[in-house]
Amino acid sequence: MKKRVCLQGLPVDIISYDSALEFALSAIDNGENMQIVTINPEMVQSAKNNKDFANILKHAELVVADGVGIKIALKLKGVSQERIGGVDLSRSLIELCAKRNFRLGLLGAKEEVISTLVKKLKNEFKDIDIVFAHNGYFEDENTVLNQIKEVRPQVLLCALGSPKQEFIIYRLKEMLQGCVMIGVGGSFDVFAGYVSRAPIIWQKLGLEWLYRLIKQPERFKRIFPTLPIFLFESIIDSVKK
Ligand code: UDP
Repeated sequence: MKKRVCLQGLPVDIISYDSALEFALSAIDNGENMQIVTINPEMVQSAKNNKDFANILKHAELVVADGVGIKIALKLKGVSQERIGGVDLSRSLIELCAKRNFRLGLLGAKEEVISTLVKKLKNEFKDIDIVFAHNGYFEDENTVLNQIKEVRPQVLLCALGSPKQEFIIYRLKEMLQGCVMIGVGGSFDVFAGYVSRAPIIWQKLGLEWLYRLIKQPERFKRIFPTLPIFLFESIIDSVKK
């Protein structure tokens, strides 16, 4: 169903969008936990200086290519992979929860964002079973994780930014059963309507990152010099293969 390739020492799964969703659904149906990572160049670069983070990425059950940078790096290795974005995948997982009556948990973003999101989702999907919703600014991580354990979500979306969300999900894998967990970065801000997504044409051209950069110029220091270094190292990596 999926083929795993190695990109600068980290895994990336070669999989279609639909198969990724089916894979997630099978984990819930089989009572297995699954950590989904939507990998991007910033995460690859950060994992190079953080062994624990790299270890988490290596143990993720599903690692999908988010961001055009990963797509290009794979192409350099002769591998074609469509972009699977966290916003789209988490939206599909929410719809799956509504359709299959799965228990949904939401962790992350500012209080006003998460409360708006819960209201919006309850409005859109009348019977959606949101068993947990908490903002991402908490002092006591253990208390929050134990609260999540109590309500046994089957899908948990974590919007805490990377690598925080991946570390928390990794801990939760030891505490939950039959739960698909995904780190979704700033997706709650988008779903709740606080941040607008790039128009479809920008997305299709692989320029969503540029749109976000224009809208949030403070992201500049996150992308540069990380992205050019990543691309340079991807070229070296592809020559070595
Ligand atoms: N966030 C959070 N807790 C924190 C730090 C960040 O809940 O301690 C949230 C923040 O409010 C935002 C998201 O995490 O909703 C991170 O968004 P960002 O745009 O940085 O993520 P990206 O999509 O770039 O991974």
